[in-house]
Amino acid sequence: MKHSKTIFFSLLVALLFSSAAPEHEDWGFFGHQRINRMAVFTLPPDMIVFYKKNIEYITKHAIDPDKRRYIAPQEAPRHYIDLDHYGKIPFDNVPRRWNNALAKFTDLYVVTTNNDTLHLFGNDQMRYTKDSITINGDAVKRVFQKDSIKISTDRYVDFVKKNIANQFYELDWFISQDSLDTLFQTNYFAPNCNVAFAKDYLSNYGIVPWHLEKMLYRLTLAFKEVDEAKILKYSAEIGHYIGDAHVPLHTTENYNGQLTNQVGIHGFWESRLPELFADNYNYFVGKSQYIDRTNPYFWGIVLNSHALLDSVLLIEKDLTNTMPSDLKYCYETRGTQTIRTYCQEFSNAYHKRLEGMVEKQMRNAILSIGSVWRTAWVNAGQPDLRKLSSEMTDLEEEQINLEERKIKGRQHEN
Ligand SMILES: [Zn+2]
Repeated sequence: MKHSKTIFFSLLVALLFSSAAPEHEDWGFFGHQRINRMAVFTLPPDMIVFYKKNIEYITKHAIDPDKRRYIAPQEAPRHYIDLDHYGKIPFDNVPRRWNNALAKFTDLYVVTTNNDTLHLFGNDQMRYTKDSITINGDAVKRVFQKDSIKISTDRYVDFVKKNIANQFYELDWFISQDSLDTLFQTNYFAPNCNVAFAKDYLSNYGIVPWHLEKMLYRLTLAFKEVDEAKILKYSAEIGHYIGDAHVPLHTTENYNGQLTNQVGIHGFWESRLPELFADNYNYFVGKSQYIDRTNPYFWGIVLNSHALLDSVLLIEKDLTNTMPSDLKYCYETRGTQTIRTYCQEFSNAYHKRLEGMVEKQMRNAILSIGSVWRTAWVNAGQPDLRKLSSEMTDLEEEQINLEERKIKGRQHEN
């Protein structure tokens, strides 16, 4: 079950890399915090003052969604999408709109008064196209005395939106029999069925691109209400999810190399490499942009990440096959612990062969976060943020401006 991904990965890290794990779960935190922090410097003048005042919050809370993964079962799928589960690039078979995806990837059952469970919608029982949905199978024969029934996709998506989408984070999803009768314009379900329920298989494979749209909506609303606490919370958290969407291994079922005998590669790419090399990256990414069409934009992020996946895996495999095995894993002391990790030399070689991929993805994530914050603010009608938050002290302001100048200054050195 994919819901146990996080737990599985933590255990793996614990087993492979350490005698006691908690410290190492923090590795990925470094990257997220830096990315969120740097995104502040991409903002336009009307926004940057507020974000600078709160830069410590935006940095610190970049990792809140990961912390939540251990306590909230619904959190995990928001961080990834196993695109390859659905086929191959460009994954045209995956609806880009949330309610359409939910309509396509949800099984709907009814239980008759005789206690027969009939599978009405979903996997193997239906053909989904942009315009129409055709359902078939035993349930259709029993209910309609026909081999198949066709309804318009819009009609069913609307049904899903009204009757299913709002239950997404519930453990069990129930649908009223009346609503099914309304959908089919029948009088069958209410008198003949005890219960109707649904179960999606979408959340097993991750929902990050759709969740980004939801987060953007929440952030936009927070700006409209000029609700400072919410603006900060959603800014920090959408930054996290955007960061995750830029990691190639967050777009595959083979998320930790477990299908290709490369276990540990997830933390290697997203934590070990930044830890070793990110201090020398160039974080001057220019100015944030307004995003016209956010749905294709978010999908573009995960599709681009997925396109990098082959290199991430193949280069590691090639190095493992060509470098002496005792150069791959080394022991390092962290505090009082000795841990097994990828050797510096192996990491150097991998990082070099990736030709700046980690840096580029971090830079893309930074620009993307700034652009998404900006888009939410613009779509909310550009509320005045100057009256929010207490003023910084001169010293704080000077320090942040110095940090900004350093980032921008590096640009000229390069
Ligand atoms: Zn995450």
